[in-house]
Amino acid sequence: MISPIKADRFYTYTQAPSSCGFRASSGLAGTTAPQPLTVSNTGDTFESSVKQTEKKGLSKGAKWAVGIGTALVGLVTAGILVSKHQAGKLKKLYDENIVFQNLAEKIDFKEAKTVEEGIKFAKEVLKVGEVDKDFTLDAINFANKGLVEVSNANKGRLFIPKKLWYRDMGDKTLAGVVQDIESPYFGHLMVNKKFFEHETLNEKLNILLGIGKQKAAAESASKAAVKAPEEFKFVCNLDEKSINVIKKYKQSPDSLTIAEKRELWANLSNAGRIQENLLDLAPFTTLKNNLSLFEQNGIQVDFDDFAKLITKKQSEKLKELFTQLQEKLGHQPEIDIPYLSPTETIHHEMGHLQDFAKNLKELDIKRWKIPSFKDAYNNVKAGKKDTSGVEFVDNRWKGLTYKGFKELFEKNPKKFQKKYPDLYEFLTNQETQQTAGKVSWYAQTSIGEFIAEVYGKMVRGEKIADDVMALYKKYNGPMLGG
Ligand SMILES: [Zn+2]
Repeated sequence: MISPIKADRFYTYTQAPSSCGFRASSGLAGTTAPQPLTVSNTGDTFESSVKQTEKKGLSKGAKWAVGIGTALVGLVTAGILVSKHQAGKLKKLYDENIVFQNLAEKIDFKEAKTVEEGIKFAKEVLKVGEVDKDFTLDAINFANKGLVEVSNANKGRLFIPKKLWYRDMGDKTLAGVVQDIESPYFGHLMVNKKFFEHETLNEKLNILLGIGKQKAAAESASKAAVKAPEEFKFVCNLDEKSINVIKKYKQSPDSLTIAEKRELWANLSNAGRIQENLLDLAPFTTLKNNLSLFEQNGIQVDFDDFAKLITKKQSEKLKELFTQLQEKLGHQPEIDIPYLSPTETIHHEMGHLQDFAKNLKELDIKRWKIPSFKDAYNNVKAGKKDTSGVEFVDNRWKGLTYKGFKELFEKNPKKFQKKYPDLYEFLTNQETQQTAGKVSWYAQTSIGEFIAEVYGKMVRGEKIADDVMALYKKYNGPMLGG
């Protein structure tokens, strides 16, 4: 069946794969050497491809109308009428489509035994309007479990997806939600069926575990890099369950269920992500938190000098320091990787939906608000920022992984700044970037992804650093409990 939704705004991977060694004492043969690990994404927001010619036509009119200062009073008045009409239409759409549910405060999740039972649970207990009939048992149980976790974290008060889809979304996206209020799919949640197939999962796991072709490639790459000093890596201590499943997978990939493979994949990805956060994305905090460790081992660190470096240089310096530490200790330093459920994908997407519920309407309507001559004059006089030309919605939800954004950011930063001022600030402020980097590389790519990633952590009850929470609040991120 052809999917009615074409997702054309998926992000691409531009991130270099990070790697992680696994603990040797866990009884895993041949895993003492660092294993290549690619970092995976957790989902994204996208637009449906439904044509919106009317909207586009009006949008042009509004942009022209925003450019006031011309003496064409009659035309400006027409523009204001058009914008009033459009703002009213949008208001109505938001009021109709963003509906909070009051579910039970605490829902007990029990795996359904049949697909029908799972669909019934989604509709009756979780109040999802519609559920795709194509769901497999694994997939509907996964979606329901994730939704129950988010609902319980909110004590049952939250914006629930209107429909659950189960579709092929390619091999780079786990799930998605539709952001455009004028799309018939607004507020729907899509789960990618590709990630419930053995073929896809084996492929991903083989890469993460360095099995097969990837292993050969990694070996030849490491041979080629003989002269270059090996980059510092931690030994990642995974939870016991994951370690046992890796063992089982290495003996026989066919012996694992879809659910087991998904769980393992989530945890291996998480290991790569955590290592990357510590070494590459938020090196300043890592050094700060480990200063005494270096000092106790006789390694001198000039903290003030370190603070002045750009992130990339901080990261290089930090790896040097850890390499020295490794020499002193006589073994690779280790980090513990806490267990992560694959339902984190649902937590992330639900973070987008709650964020939409809280902030989308106001931002979307803002683009139709045209200041009167008097207001415009007063704004200029008061030295207020000119917000004409600001893409309010994209400024918040889109980012470097969206089509065309990275290119514009690199080629024409001035224009980028004018269109997306908050996003520009978010992307270029080193402190902000390192704060977001404590969460993940994906959280660094846009304000919306930062919000969704942090929301997921809140749902899981994970500890959130003070500066991360402060940034989340600055952007008016949705709090638990509606
Ligand atoms: Zn996302």
